[in-house]
Amino acid sequence: MIKNILVVIEQRDGKIKKSSLEAVSTASKLASETNSSVQSIALGSEIENLSSIAEYGVSKINHFKNSELHSYSPSAYTKIISEFVIQSGSDLIIIPNTSFGKDLAPRIAARISAGCIMDITHFEISADELICRRPIYAGKAMLDVKFLSEKKVLTLRPNVFKAEKLPGLSAEITLNEVTSPDLTTRVTEIKKSEGKLDVAEADIIVSGGRGVKGPENFHLIEELAETLGAAVGASRAVVDAGWRSHGEQVGQTGKTVSPSLYIACGISGAIQHLAGMSSSKYIVAINKDKDAPIFSVADYGITGDLFEVLPKLTEEIKKMRS
Ligand code: FAD
Repeated sequence: MIKNILVVIEQRDGKIKKSSLEAVSTASKLASETNSSVQSIALGSEIENLSSIAEYGVSKINHFKNSELHSYSPSAYTKIISEFVIQSGSDLIIIPNTSFGKDLAPRIAARISAGCIMDITHFEISADELICRRPIYAGKAMLDVKFLSEKKVLTLRPNVFKAEKLPGLSAEITLNEVTSPDLTTRVTEIKKSEGKLDVAEADIIVSGGRGVKGPENFHLIEELAETLGAAVGASRAVVDAGWRSHGEQVGQTGKTVSPSLYIACGISGAIQHLAGMSSSKYIVAINKDKDAPIFSVADYGITGDLFEVLPKLTEEIKKMRS
């Protein structure tokens, strides 16, 4: 069974991502269930409040520091983490299923000859084995998978597992200065919409599709999003058309999201879009076609013209909030 769990912490611009706290919390619960130990590894230069992750249930934090590790480098991160896994005797490596985790997890698994199960939404211990559940066929079915390998790498779908604080806990931070990291490959630039929420981490998302008719009308989506404190998402059709950036795309070839509330406006609900958002807690669809497939996954639906519905909805929510 599992003995030593290692959680890989993701930081961006020195700030720890919420999905990493979810991973620490989940690892901590799994550790108490399986009577195993849990520690974490974070790479970067200055990482804000690194010690605060202790409150989510990890007592050992290993910080590998070098200014070149500030941004993600697949080659350096894979090498450092894989070597640490071997040295620390970790047998289960948990990583958030973000763009970072999706890239890193298979690399580490290949390097340490581990099995790799990605995008887990649930797991349980059954007959001393870790059984992981993940969506397949673009979310149409769920698959229960178990590891056959001794070493295991798994990634957790963001926003599915809770980040729960356990007040009063503290951690020991071990600082490792890294000299000459292997920077054969590295991320040199991350383009993001300034000051806006990331769909992968947002608790509420308002998404627009081709029904919005053009980029000039996206202010309707943005206004509702702002009123709700939500992130703006988009279908691939509007990203391909150049109306919105790829960072906002939800779906099979975009981001997988699991917010509490997903509002789809003028989105038909193609299977590739559903693949990225069908695990949202509540789905609201606004579409003028009552037969649009999006209604088959929606908890609440409004059959209507979004150009009439959205301004009224935004106004009503503003009134309620004031
Ligand atoms: P449409 O399908 O054109 O739907 C527009 C909707 O707006 C319609 O339902 C219409 O009734 C409604 N509408 C029109 N006017 C109004 C109005 N005034 N008020 C209200 N409703 C209105 N798609 C993704 O989204 N994400 C992905 O990651 C993705 N990956 C893909 C990967 C592959 C390999 C392939 C082949 C496709 C992928 N797609 C993806 C594309 C997907 O198949 C669809 O083409 C796309 O999702 C359609 O986008 P849409 O719903 O915005 O547009």
